[in-house]
Amino acid sequence: NTFREMKYPSSIIRALKEKGITKPSPIQIQGLPVANAGRDMIGIAFTGSGKTLVFVLPLIMIAWEQEKRLPLIAGEGPCGLVLCPSRELARQTFDIINHFIGVLEREGGPKLRSLLAIGGTNLRDQQEALRKGVHICVATPGRLIDFLEKKKINFDACKYVCLDEADRLIDLGFEEEIRKIFDFFASQRQTLMFSATMPRKIQIFASSALVKPVVVNV
Ligand code: AMP
Repeated sequence: NTFREMKYPSSIIRALKEKGITKPSPIQIQGLPVANAGRDMIGIAFTGSGKTLVFVLPLIMIAWEQEKRLPLIAGEGPCGLVLCPSRELARQTFDIINHFIGVLEREGGPKLRSLLAIGGTNLRDQQEALRKGVHICVATPGRLIDFLEKKKINFDACKYVCLDEADRLIDLGFEEEIRKIFDFFASQRQTLMFSATMPRKIQIFASSALVKPVVVNV
């Protein structure tokens, strides 16, 4: 099992190599084909398993395909979203996504645009990015809902969402916010959910938010 066998383009393989990643981890071997096939998925995984790439690589590929088909225009909203329970986690995920975006651009690929929508900082920069248009949004629920309700972000084209650390999102009381965010999706969406634990509360949430999810547990 290799990333090349999974049909990733050479610039993605090189971006992985620059991070010291040459062979997919078990959750990547199981999860990437599921996510790349467009299925909903529940990943039961801890930090350190390599779970982040299971939702980041398909997201990069969706944004890339989208940009090839219809180049981004000003004010256009994201085609994919990652929701995180904390600003630090959102920032880390955003940095990883930007690493891939940087390598793609360096190697002559499209320029993908990403937005970090979190509270506490740089509202003006975030609004400026939204005015230019974004492919990918990494967010915490509060700031994202603020943008959605004020119509500063457009989710009409958003078709991919990952809830990272879903158990923490639910424990922190974000369930209602997540449902509110889902209501802004115009089209059918692919939903991924990663959680270190699967208490009953999360199972119930998953059964209402995901469609025939494949469960990946390594
Ligand atoms: P994660 O579980 O996604 O938070 O990843 C934990 C760490 O493992 C990160 O520093 C990744 O760069 C690294 N990592 C992810 N996938 C692999 C892989 N297939 N081989 C080696 N390291 C990896």
